[in-house]
Amino acid sequence: MKTRFFPGYTIGPDSYKEIERICKPYGTKAAVIGGERAIKAAENKIKEATEGSDIRITGFFPYGGEASVENIERLKSISEIQEADIIFAVGGGKAVDTAKVVAQTTERPFFTFPTIASTCAACTSLGILYHPDGSLREYSFSDIPPVHIFIDSEIIANAPSKYLWAGIGDSMAKYFETSVSSRGDELSHSQAMGVYIGNMCSGPFVKYGEKALMDCENNIVSDELEEIILGIIVSTGMVSNLVSIDITSGLAHAVYNGFTVIHQIEEHGHLHGEIVSYGILVLLIVDKQKEEFKRIYEFNKKLGLPTRLSDLHCTESHVDRIVEKALSGIDVRHYPYVITPDMVKDAIAFLESRN
Ligand SMILES: [Zn+2]
Repeated sequence: MKTRFFPGYTIGPDSYKEIERICKPYGTKAAVIGGERAIKAAENKIKEATEGSDIRITGFFPYGGEASVENIERLKSISEIQEADIIFAVGGGKAVDTAKVVAQTTERPFFTFPTIASTCAACTSLGILYHPDGSLREYSFSDIPPVHIFIDSEIIANAPSKYLWAGIGDSMAKYFETSVSSRGDELSHSQAMGVYIGNMCSGPFVKYGEKALMDCENNIVSDELEEIILGIIVSTGMVSNLVSIDITSGLAHAVYNGFTVIHQIEEHGHLHGEIVSYGILVLLIVDKQKEEFKRIYEFNKKLGLPTRLSDLHCTESHVDRIVEKALSGIDVRHYPYVITPDMVKDAIAFLESRN
């Protein structure tokens, strides 16, 4: 049996002030790897927090724009990164995953500093790797998550709100996908804990989502914003760390994968979580959860998340290709019933008829 580890976190505008206390037992030389904009946003605060402390920063290193094996190897050859005892991973999903895999493959502890809240990458052990052209390469599976997550809510409040908006859609899928995918299963302790934590990926988002998004647009740190940041990064990440891939994914992500073959998606810059939030509606219709569907449909409308094909620059002529791709992946291979192409097509047609 594998040993499992779970990270802790601190959140607030002064979160980085805890760096020395939390990191020192793991080493005193830290290399910072991150996105270019993320480093700009966090550099001064990290310097302020470590100046005069026992933690020495060996340098700030841009990750290179893609979570690729090429960038990981390049970073591993930099002497200031080699001499560090610990790695600080700063930024959004791809930057954090790059730094994470550098740390994991060189057997050093790492700490994450999310500067946007759009995925749970800052909390998970999993790294998602891409080819230099941006296409998916592989999942880098590891059982080592970050030691600690330093969440500076002020930095996240100052980041573009579209990431938070899409992050809400992606995170809510964790509840609907885990609860449906695990239905009828005999769950082990951590699988069951993961599914229970998944319950926190719906209610708080419906309750605080709209206010949090408004506050992020106005660069205000509020309780509601912090609730949503924790939901996106921590609740969702904990579910990922606790449950197997069969349960953590489901029809909403299958639908997302379906849309990736339509070039309009990339062309118009539609975000992962935005498309997943449409996938949740399809999941709820297929699963005949009428009340829940109404609630989430209204929520999507209120937040401007997609409820019809044209919101994603797609038309009914794309549906066959979307559905074929959606059902060809691993996302719904473990499900309480067989999902047929017609079930998905009918759900999409039902959504079109409502608009
Ligand atoms: Zn996702």
